[in-house]
Order: sequence, then C-alpha cells, then structure tokens
Amino acid sequence: MMHDILIKNGLIYLDHEFIRMNIGISGNRITYTGRQEVHAGQTIDASGCAVLPGVMNAHTHLSMCLLRGVAEDQPLERWLSETVWPIEKKLSARDIYYGSLLGIYEMLRTGTTCFSDLYIEMDMTARAVLETGIRACLCYGMADRGDESRGREELRIGREFVKKWHQKGTITALYGPHSTYTCTPEFLKEVKEVADNDGLKVQIHASENSWEIDEVRKKYGMTPVELLNSIGFLDENTILAHCVRVSDSEIEIIKRRKAHIVHNPISNLKLSAGIAPVFKFVLKGINVALGTDGAASNNSYNMFEEIKITPLLQKCLSGNASALKAYESIDMATKNGYRAYGLEGGEIKEGKLADIVIIDVSSPSYHPSYNLINNIVYSGNGYDVRDVIVDGKIVVEKGKVLTIDREKIIDKVERIKRRIMDNGQENTSDKR
Ligand SMILES: [Zn+2]
Repeated sequence: MMHDILIKNGLIYLDHEFIRMNIGISGNRITYTGRQEVHAGQTIDASGCAVLPGVMNAHTHLSMCLLRGVAEDQPLERWLSETVWPIEKKLSARDIYYGSLLGIYEMLRTGTTCFSDLYIEMDMTARAVLETGIRACLCYGMADRGDESRGREELRIGREFVKKWHQKGTITALYGPHSTYTCTPEFLKEVKEVADNDGLKVQIHASENSWEIDEVRKKYGMTPVELLNSIGFLDENTILAHCVRVSDSEIEIIKRRKAHIVHNPISNLKLSAGIAPVFKFVLKGINVALGTDGAASNNSYNMFEEIKITPLLQKCLSGNASALKAYESIDMATKNGYRAYGLEGGEIKEGKLADIVIIDVSSPSYHPSYNLINNIVYSGNGYDVRDVIVDGKIVVEKGKVLTIDREKIIDKVERIKRRIMDNGQENTSDKR
C-alpha cells in the first residue's frame, strides 16, 4: 500500500513510553505504525525527534488573545465586568477573525492540533479554522441572563452556528451555554435538550471560583454542579470547564454522570480562583483534559506550559510528590481532550485521526536523556515543536506555520489595539 506521508526514525509516544517506529498516513488517518519503511509520497525524517499524538487545548476563548495583557491583577468578577466585557463590545466580527488567526498561529506553532472554543462571532473563528487547517470544536457562547426573549435569540444563534458549521472540514460544532450564573436553569435545560436531539456535546463553565458558588447558591440554594445535576444536564456528552471548587460529593456526582472536566491551571492561578483537585478526579476515574482558557487570563496558548504546571500543582495541593505522573499530564493534553469531545484522535494508532506533533529533542535542555517523558513534561517548551500534522496535512514545517502570514497578523492586531485604546465609542456595526 502507498501512503501519503511516512514519518520515519522518530521516537513515538505509545502507551506511556517512547518507541522508535515509523508512522504511515493516508488521507486524514494514521494507516500504519511499525518498524517497516513503508512507501509514501512524502517522507518526514524525525531522527532526533519525539513524536507525540495531537495536543488538544480543550477550553479556550480564542480571540480573547486580542485582550492579551490589557489588564492584570484583578479578581474574576471585576476583570470580567470592568475590563473584558466593555472591550468586547468594541470588537467587530473582523477583529474576531484576526484575533482567531493570531490565536491559531500560537497554537499551531506550539504543537496544538485541536482546540475547543466558546466565544462570540464564531463564524469568523470557523473561517479562520478552515483557512489554517487546525482542528476545532466550536460553539457560540450563549447566556440568557434571566431574560426569556434574550435566551430565545441566543439559542437561535447557537443552533444556526451548529447547522452551518458542524462537520465542515475539521470543525465539530457543539453547544456552549456560558455558566449557571449567566444562564437560568430553564434555559440550560432547553439547551441540553436541543444538544441531545442533535447528538452533540455541550460545554459549560462550572465552579470556577468561590464568588460563583456563592452567587448560584444565593439564587438556587445549590452549587453549580448540584444545580446542573438536578436539571439532568450532566452526562457523558457534557464538558465542565474548571471545577476548581468542588466537594467530594460533587466529584462523585460528576463521576457517576460520566461528565468530562477541563482543567485550566494557569488561568485559575492568575484569576486567583484556586487549584482544582485534579488528583482526586483522576483517582475517581473522571476523564480530565487540559486547557488554557482565554489568553487574557493566561496569557498564552502554549499547552506545554499547562502540561508542566498540572502535575506540579497537584503535588503541591496533595502534599504528595507522586500525586500526578508526567505521563498522566501528557495523556490529559492529548487523548483525554480528544475523548471528551468525541474525536478519534490524540493517540498514535492505526485508524486514528492523523493529528501529530514532532518535537526536536536535540537541544541541551533535553539532555541527558534518561527519560524522554520527564524531559518533555518538565524541561520542554512548545517552541521545540518542529513539525505539526493536522488531519493528514503538514501545517507546521521546521517551526514555520505554513498557513498563516505571521507579520500580517501581528500588524492587524496592533491596529485593532490602537483602535480599542483610541476611541471610547462602541463598535456596534456588526456585533451581536
Ligand atoms: Zn473559560
């Protein structure tokens, strides 16, 4: 059999160890793994490289990178109401498009092959996804804020987005009600019903910080997780972002309902939300993925930062240095993310999606090389990524993102920044 691409001589990450093997790719799937040198149209020599499955950034608000560094040192509720929301009102659809390209550039450059996004003006992000060749799970971020007619309009936009983009190229669409403090239980129930009917996933923020818990408890006498459980929102098609402040009994509920959790450690630290008890989630057998959250609260889209800090924080939180192993962090960033969103990737196995990351491990920080997993997790950084393949296509080659004009995007976003800073008036022309 003739393959499209052969990756040869690399050290392949397989079942928690690195093995020297070759990979064959045909179309958008991995079609061969083994020692043979199979025939292929194109050969990538991965000598001196580690080959990881695709990395998934399982929770983000992509074009928030337009707000990177605009305001720091504020708690979540103030940061949202005084900084984020006023600036977002000034962003046009076009701005979101360039913000998406900026974010995708950084993701591809640092080895992210797939991301999950919940935001506004999602048509623009979808366009950017198809143009750049990254894979994405996208949803329009909905919030009824206690207003029934607003809820109807939000759900209409969310459904329209799904209809327009689901399974177009590398896009998987889903539903994204923002949270239990911005959506009513009635609205959430309706969204879940619609998602179930469409056979799609739902993603929601849950229990990010204690302010949120207090708000929801005041209104409904329950925590966000208890509330979601009480309305039948939690099941294997539900993805919960954060779960920083959850009790043991709530962890039990999440486990029983088979919901997935996305851990966003750097954002949680930066907004002083706390440290999610990930070691407890893992012990319970809950599927935990990793995300960056929006770049305004991170401030980067480099998943290798999350991969490093995740086990460090759990060791600190649990007081146990063996609480979370290096390979568990890699799994969270790869196959667990793909699994949460129902995608057949994040693993280097025949039949899986051909999303692959090739990392140059020849630099001094990877030596001596006693254990490559430990070196990648604790000594690596995303900029060692050399080549990236998404959906069977090479999108990053020798550190160059082939599908994005880097200088043009930087110029565009600097112009957007100047406009945001210069004029105080809102841009309402093409905003929701
Ligand atoms: Zn978020």
